[in-house]
Amino acid sequence: MTITPALIPKLIAAISETLANHADEVTELDQAIGDGDHLINLQRGIKALTEKQDELTVLDWPNAWQKIGMILMSAIGGASGSLYATLFMALSKAAKDQPLNLQSFADSFNLAVEAVKHRGKAEAGEKTLLDVYIPVALYLNTAAASNLTLPEILNTVVAIAITGMEATRDMIATKGRASFLEQRSIGHIDAGAKTAQLMISAINGVLITELTAPT
Ligand code: ADP
Ligand code: MG
Repeated sequence: MTITPALIPKLIAAISETLANHADEVTELDQAIGDGDHLINLQRGIKALTEKQDELTVLDWPNAWQKIGMILMSAIGGASGSLYATLFMALSKAAKDQPLNLQSFADSFNLAVEAVKHRGKAEAGEKTLLDVYIPVALYLNTAAASNLTLPEILNTVVAIAITGMEATRDMIATKGRASFLEQRSIGHIDAGAKTAQLMISAINGVLITELTAPT
């Protein structure tokens, strides 16, 4: 089974489901150190993607990522809207005109995460969604050079995302609204890191199921 944009509806449904299942938890996290709208922002993006999913499935990955970025840019308000739009548009730009394999995806994903860092003027350790995406991107590079199977790699990505998300609890926020709280931001997981981890787990769950399904 190859991983094509025909999977997009399943991926969107899995993300939507995990966000709904963790709605209260995510909103409580964003209320503790942000303004409480993070879940609603993402759900607005997911709704817009669901409405356009039939247009996405007929594209190739770089064009689908480009369109996803544009849809998210107009549908999501808040910091996370422009950051996710940047992630997908940069992923598309980096992946265009090259064969898609794990190494090229890892390279493109690293460039996309760099673009998000640039956009948010943020680095690792600032208690944001980047504390999930940066370690995942770095691991993908290592994994692409290894002889692990794709399901093994995807399982490790899930574990790395959890570790990254949990590490935000003890960080001081220096970017975004949570930075206004300074020391008082310590002790709460960053909402954006939590949703990043949930979405990565959902995506990888779908991919692992597809890759390991009997044909
Ligand atoms: P807003 O903060 O505008 O209300 P959201 O609530 O949708 O937007 O998203 C907040 C999340 O965005 C935070 O939890 C954090 O993970 C992420 N974030 C905020 N500012 C930045 C930044 N400058 N760089 C990277 N991520 C950021
Ligand atoms: Mg917010």
